[in-house]
Amino acid sequence: MSYVERVLSELEKKNAEQPEFIQAVTEVLTSIAPVLEKHPEYEASALLERLVEPERQIMFRVPWVDDNGKVQVNRGFRVQFNSAIGPYKGGLRFAPNVYLGIIKFLGFEQIFKNSLTGLPIGGGKGGSDFDPNGKSDAEIMRFCQSFMTELFRHIGAETDVPAGDLGVGAKEIGYMFGQYKRLKNVYEGVLTGKGLAYGGLNGRTEATGYGIVFFAREMLKHFGEELKGKEVVVSGFGNVSWGTVQKLNQLGAKVVTISGPDGYIYDPDGVTAGEKEDYLLELRASGKNICAPYAEKFPNATFYPGKKPWGVKADLYIPCATQNEITMKEAEEMVANGCKFLCEGSNMPTTNDALSYLQKNGVVVGPSKAANAGGVACSCIEMGQNAGHTVFSPDQVYAQLENIMVNIHDSAAKASEEYGLGYNLLAGANIAGFQKIADAMMAQGIC
Ligand code: GLU
Repeated sequence: MSYVERVLSELEKKNAEQPEFIQAVTEVLTSIAPVLEKHPEYEASALLERLVEPERQIMFRVPWVDDNGKVQVNRGFRVQFNSAIGPYKGGLRFAPNVYLGIIKFLGFEQIFKNSLTGLPIGGGKGGSDFDPNGKSDAEIMRFCQSFMTELFRHIGAETDVPAGDLGVGAKEIGYMFGQYKRLKNVYEGVLTGKGLAYGGLNGRTEATGYGIVFFAREMLKHFGEELKGKEVVVSGFGNVSWGTVQKLNQLGAKVVTISGPDGYIYDPDGVTAGEKEDYLLELRASGKNICAPYAEKFPNATFYPGKKPWGVKADLYIPCATQNEITMKEAEEMVANGCKFLCEGSNMPTTNDALSYLQKNGVVVGPSKAANAGGVACSCIEMGQNAGHTVFSPDQVYAQLENIMVNIHDSAAKASEEYGLGYNLLAGANIAGFQKIADAMMAQGIC
């Protein structure tokens, strides 16, 4: 049994109830095998065994009172996964399907994503099984305050800096920041994704989406192609999709779909800049988590209830909804339609079997931990802004973001090339992200 096989089999035994976590670890470890061969000292110091075990996992009760005066109890999580290269950094996800396995998969991915940005941030993730959809503002505020009443003692600007993720946007961050400040009596950049009036970063809201499109542009460029005139299938309609659609429009591409848990929208005229783009924000703010109303508002568009958009023919596919939205079935449809480029916007949108099928069939894949790293990169810029008691302009932020995304693409491509794998961004991103973590962990001794 190889070192990787041994670690994976141990991992599966210990975490049998956490399939998403096993999936994320398997994807990374299988692709870094060539690096491990070159560095036998990693096995001798149990580097992988340490890497797959979070440094700390916090689980807590979140009691709150709903608008009818009924007491509700949710479960809160913060997994502080790896601090080898910086304070724990990563979002909070509020969604009914959140459990420890989801937070651990996201936290594990975050280690490599944050490493790829080239910035000094470790990996962490948290959240709750609280569902913000359909809740009143007052309920969301009471929940966020209760959540922070426990979380505050575990985080800090130099310890662990949470941000948003699915179900957590500027509104939730605001409520949590206010509560942190009351409890700790410290005004510090403990959360990112804040509002502009109290330390937030210009451009952070659109950063993830813009970054994804810059990454896709670099992928296309490698093959002598450009985004201008390309038809793009996008899934989701939240913050990440919105930023992605906006940048695609700016660069002359045409977005023909968006989607929600209720189905997908096909818009033959494109989800164009202006009214249509802005409507995504309205859909998000409605708190209903459905995209169907888009087709009522823009009658040229069609709503396909209960369906995913992956069967629509396009030049480029950008999933921006949630994990595992592309399985073997969708991958087969995409290949049959002649899909050439898949740039992953959401975290781990593709199952491992679908990923290898797509790659075997010549689809170029931009992996999420590289392609969507622009969000957390700008979060780190927000941390720097707060620590320096200053404010950066949108242009300063956009310029850094674009530079960071080009660097991530190039370092993934270079790592893949170095190990004789050609242009394999999936393996290259894992290798480049891992190498920095491994160097830092080795230098810091057994800890
Ligand atoms: N939740 C985002 C991610 O998956 C952003 C995390 C952050 O800004 O800390 O990377």
